Amino acid sequence: MAELISVVEARDAVLARSGARLAVEPVALGAALGRVLAEDASAPEDVPGSDNSAMDGFAVRAVDTAGAGAGSPRTLRVAEESRAGAPAPRAVEPGEAFRISTGGVLPPGADSILRQEEVTESGGEIRFGIEVTPGRDIRRAGEDIRAGQTVLRAGTGLGPAELGVLASLAVPEPACVRRPRLALVCTGDELLGPDEPMRPGGVRNSNAHTVPALAAITGAEVTSVERCPDEPQATREALDRALAADVAVVCGGVSVGAHDHVKAALRDLGAAEVFWGVALRPGRPTWFGVEGEGPEAGGTLAFGLPGNPVSAFVTFVLFVRPALRALAGADPGLDTSTATLAADVPRLPKRDQAVRCGLELTEAGWLATPTGPQGSHILTSMLGADALAVVAAGPGAARAGERVPVQLLR
Ligand code: AMP
Ligand code: MG
Repeated sequence: MAELISVVEARDAVLARSGARLAVEPVALGAALGRVLAEDASAPEDVPGSDNSAMDGFAVRAVDTAGAGAGSPRTLRVAEESRAGAPAPRAVEPGEAFRISTGGVLPPGADSILRQEEVTESGGEIRFGIEVTPGRDIRRAGEDIRAGQTVLRAGTGLGPAELGVLASLAVPEPACVRRPRLALVCTGDELLGPDEPMRPGGVRNSNAHTVPALAAITGAEVTSVERCPDEPQATREALDRALAADVAVVCGGVSVGAHDHVKAALRDLGAAEVFWGVALRPGRPTWFGVEGEGPEAGGTLAFGLPGNPVSAFVTFVLFVRPALRALAGADPGLDTSTATLAADVPRLPKRDQAVRCGLELTEAGWLATPTGPQGSHILTSMLGADALAVVAAGPGAARAGERVPVQLLR
């Protein structure tokens, strides 16, 4: 770790090797939440498809309401009905009103709506005391989407609104980028699952749960989670299996201790180092490299993350998550923003700090309040954290009230 590179340089180096390259596959709308659209989506037809009523009431010719007032009611004969999904069979003639439901197609001849509550109905007639203007309470064909219009762009992440709009565009199986596959290896003789009895020096393998969960909410498919002892051969074998994925993440064992075998194993397996060591706290001993030509070319991205639970969490969010997004063709920076610090944070002279913060919306915008003790082994400091505030290296302190970049966590 001769020279540490900055967080920005490290992220750029990762993104430079994370070009969109995964295959495209059709995905049923019902299973497409969180997927990334691979092709632009445009409209085959107007939405709504026809002029229709915004209200329950009666479709009328505005001229037939001329002169109606509180003291001079008028009447029209109720002749037909237009219900949602069942248009009226013919046009409205002078002197007629057609009963119409919200969403019912506006019948030819009619140009406005009298609302249900504006009329009294008896003996097949409506009586009303107001004059309406053409276009009243009518939703026009194509007002939401015009036929031919491109509505969603390739690279858009599919959330609830996008899924609904795709249904409106008559797209039952949008073309989506295949989910990036991620394999995780947790190294350490000390590691214990949550169901194993504690023993002297045992450490619960929390990374085996935080990292897959982070990968899953980023849209990746976690193909394996392995635990591996601090032993060169076992490390090599576990990493060899992990390198079959698009992204291989290994936690722990990446540092310079006598029992850290990850870097040597990656080197033996032919992974080319891109960087080793980032000017970041927590997360300095972070390794990144690329192995082989990988599925769909470009190689497997290999990340060696520090084992400390917060370090692994932070470095995943800062470096692995943008890579996963970019591989899928999505914008890797969607979850970055700025916020105002609620408290002073002393700066480190040579390292940026990722400070776990709760976010609160105030009149002055987003306010970031550090969650508590920031040690890299204090995993509970991630509880209630909405964002990482990135406090740049330098002299003095970042002062309360200062705006800082934040990486959103949710
Ligand atoms: P290492 O990066 O292997 O030097 O580990 C640094 C610290 O993180 C040590 O205290 C490890 O016990 C701890 N650690 C490593 N891996 C994990 C893990 N998967 N879950 C929780 N703690 C870990
Ligand atoms: Mg270790």
